[in-house]
Amino acid sequence: MTQNAKEPPFPWPVKWKYSSRSRRLSLRIDPRCSGVVLSLPLNFPKEKALLFIRAHIEWIQKQLEALPPPADQANEILIEGKTYPIVRVPERPSFRPKLCSDKFIVRENDPNELARIEAFLKARAKILLPVLAKKWSEIMQAEFSRITLRDTKSRWGSCNTQRAIMLNWRLILAPKAVQEYVIIHELSHLTHFNHSPDFWALVENFCPNGKIGRKESEKWLKNYGIKLQRTV
Ligand SMILES: [Zn+2]
Repeated sequence: MTQNAKEPPFPWPVKWKYSSRSRRLSLRIDPRCSGVVLSLPLNFPKEKALLFIRAHIEWIQKQLEALPPPADQANEILIEGKTYPIVRVPERPSFRPKLCSDKFIVRENDPNELARIEAFLKARAKILLPVLAKKWSEIMQAEFSRITLRDTKSRWGSCNTQRAIMLNWRLILAPKAVQEYVIIHELSHLTHFNHSPDFWALVENFCPNGKIGRKESEKWLKNYGIKLQRTV
């Protein structure tokens, strides 16, 4: 593949994703790095691709400007579906973020604020999500072999034929009903390893509020997915 075109200095990072499965050009926003991902067919001429990006500059800027700020640049944080004001107080350097009933306290002027918030959220996810998965595993009589928490870009959960469940730890930011939906979804895959009508019937049988509950959770993840990816 020859790439003669000089990369123009766009004000945001561009990830070039060549794939034999791509039939056409497509752009999407990467909320993690405040940049864009360009998917394109193998051997697609770079000059043409650059023209495509240029034609979408306005759209890209608008999307990037609309991204929510990371927690250390925000005055509130979403935890388990509830928005807490972030209160920054003078504290000793070893102070760790603390969640109270009505606020989230962090040390002011902490150069490691974002890393500390991330550690707090991950630790909370590690305690609460496996307990919730165990609870639903018993209710559904669907036993899993192990559970891991990961930071995946596009999936909230997955499972494999060894009956191991994976959950995205960022679900700790979502309401409990949404966490439960993802867990019920993955546990249902232990019975139906597909998305067949039988699979959805099983999911909806256990989802609080059935089909409506399932749809509400899916909608929540669609609306807040970027916020979950951007918080830390
Ligand atoms: Zn699925």
